[in-house]
Amino acid sequence: MSTTPDIRIQACNDLLINPQGDFVLYWMTAFRRVRWNFSLDRAVEWASQLNKPLVIVEPLRCDYRWASERFHQFILDGMSDNDTQLELYPVTYYPYLEPKVGAGKGMLNAFAQHACVVVADDFPCFFLPRMVEAAAMQVPVKMEKVDSNGLLPLRATDRVFSKAFHFRQFLQKNLSTHLDDLPSPSVLEGVRLTRLQALPSILTKRWPRVDFPYFSDVLKTILIDHKVLPTAQLGGALVGEEKLRTLLAYRLPHYSELRNQPEQNSTSQLSPYLHFGHISVHQVFHELIEQEEWSLASLSEKTKGQREGWWGMSANAEAWLDQLITWRELGFNMSSKQTNYDQYASLPEWAKTTLAEHADDPRDHLYSIEEFEQAQTHDPLWNAAQIQLVREGVVHNYLRMLWSKKILEWSPTPQDALAVMIELNNKYALDGRNPNSYSGIFWCLGRYDRAWGPERPIYGKIRYMSSDNTARKVKVKNYIETYSPPKK
Ligand SMILES: Cc1cc2nc3c(=O)[nH]c(=O)nc-3n(C[C@H](O)[C@H](O)[C@H](O)COP(=O)(O)OP(=O)(O)OC[C@H]3O[C@@H](n4cnc5c(N)ncnc54)[C@H](O)[C@@H]3O)c2cc1C
Repeated sequence: MSTTPDIRIQACNDLLINPQGDFVLYWMTAFRRVRWNFSLDRAVEWASQLNKPLVIVEPLRCDYRWASERFHQFILDGMSDNDTQLELYPVTYYPYLEPKVGAGKGMLNAFAQHACVVVADDFPCFFLPRMVEAAAMQVPVKMEKVDSNGLLPLRATDRVFSKAFHFRQFLQKNLSTHLDDLPSPSVLEGVRLTRLQALPSILTKRWPRVDFPYFSDVLKTILIDHKVLPTAQLGGALVGEEKLRTLLAYRLPHYSELRNQPEQNSTSQLSPYLHFGHISVHQVFHELIEQEEWSLASLSEKTKGQREGWWGMSANAEAWLDQLITWRELGFNMSSKQTNYDQYASLPEWAKTTLAEHADDPRDHLYSIEEFEQAQTHDPLWNAAQIQLVREGVVHNYLRMLWSKKILEWSPTPQDALAVMIELNNKYALDGRNPNSYSGIFWCLGRYDRAWGPERPIYGKIRYMSSDNTARKVKVKNYIETYSPPKK
């Protein structure tokens, strides 16, 4: 059994373990998986050490912002996978779907009354940090949160990085010491735990377990957004792992060449699975290095922040790792350390200054949030990206950049533009509400970027993008046809 690295564990309160408790409680809210999960490892460690049963509660609230059938369905797909996988082991898995606002109130506290210790997930974004903090004040026993977010532990540095280059350089100097600290691929395999006979009925009556065959019916009755519909994309660890295998077998060999081509489907499509914790970046990394026959000895000694050559892997693998690790974890670095990561004020000074200087520039086109949402702009490529977002819950990275740049150009102020980007991204994108939602959106307004010339109306020195240039650089004809508005 692995030992969870101390740097990933943080006490949430000053309370002690209750050795008389009936079980160890893992409250799974972000790393919604049973493999490669430091939180689960930690909970199993406690259960073994205290010789107590393990109860895993995976709740799904209905009152968070942007809660919709789309996200609920995706999360419930994952819960169903967890249920199937955990049947094989001597643990109690308890998925809970909140049927109406407030119904889940008091649930954690009630379960924790019977627990020796509570282990929670440490996800640095959206409402989750506040929720964990509030819960830790209520539970009657010791509560810990565990960081299973990235290859670099969130607490490996106090610095907030404002440039990918500096973060890459930091990783090149410091990441190797953490690369051997992997969560267990299957911590429950072979572990001996006492099984809990049953949860107290006072708990199970008030907070009934999800009834999987019928959850789709229940979903229709919950007060969430029923206009944001589920997509054809199934959630869960099994589909996530399938996507990883597809990437490694077919897409990775062409990643550098094709990743910017929206019509090629050449990227991993893993971001929703990473976001909901259905797959771990550690598993992804592990399977990649197996394929690349890579070891720590391959790392280059040159640590100058260079994009290629440090890992000592194939060029495509390095290009992909730069997204998966440098860019992904850069966002986690900021959201875990800077509470205003989602506020306009957090933009770099140069960006705020140049945007302010151009705030009153005349706009050729101005759209309301409803017009943006309904893809009613004059620009067929922009509309196609918005239609894909609404229909499928994803947009290709290259077009996502164009999408947000144009919202800046066609909004009355940069602050209005930011509000529209956050609202539409987080309402429709399966991978939204993530540190990378904010890195991506704020990048379009200057975060992690530099000033560019020539200075232009509205954008000032912010990097500019146009649909015409995009159409010259990447193929979009079929894309526009596929995502055209329905014919009247
Ligand atoms: C305006 C805008 C909004 C964005 N919103 C989100 C969001 O809500 N959630 C989200 O996860 N990403 C977001 N991104 C980043 C990026 O678009 C997606 O991560 C990527 O398109 C996901 O596709 P993939 O999984 O096939 O990526 P791959 O190319 O296969 O990359 C593998 C993984 O690396 C990470 N990654 C890739 N590109 C980036 C990037 N530019 N920045 C940070 N991490 C990256 C993702 O976790 C991704 O799953 C946004 C980018 C922009 C410009």
